Amino acid sequence: MPAASKLCEQAVQELFTQVHLRFTRQRYAIYHALASVHSHPTVDELFQMLAQANHDISLATVYNTLEALVKSGLVRKLSDGGTSARYDATVDDHLHVRDKNTGTVADVPADLGQRLLKTLPNEVLKQIEIELGFKINHVEIELVGEYASSKTHVA
Ligand SMILES: [Zn+2]
Repeated sequence: MPAASKLCEQAVQELFTQVHLRFTRQRYAIYHALASVHSHPTVDELFQMLAQANHDISLATVYNTLEALVKSGLVRKLSDGGTSARYDATVDDHLHVRDKNTGTVADVPADLGQRLLKTLPNEVLKQIEIELGFKINHVEIELVGEYASSKTHVA
């Protein structure tokens, strides 16, 4: 998640300019709301968050804006895992855990994710590329499971 200072209007406006995305009040509100949380919200959840913060933005606008942000590379769309797609304003490589009971998604700490990715055998990746005729750009791993009941999870 970007530091709070990176979410000020001017910083976000510069970010939009870099990727040639038109900056509007609504788009800023949507990006700001997404980048302020770790919960990887769905379109519906983000719409609810914005409504609670007294933003009068339609569900369609939230959806269309998220898709535009994904296209521009400012937001990552997570594979839906059988539920609604989730969105992430943290776009650098990081891994996720998904709770199979609730569908919620959380970040794996960067150092642990990097350690896991480093253990992937290159020769297997190469072999996959050869057998499928597919060039691998990067690896995304989603760890699916459930929280130990003794631990409460804070999104
Ligand atoms: Zn994430």
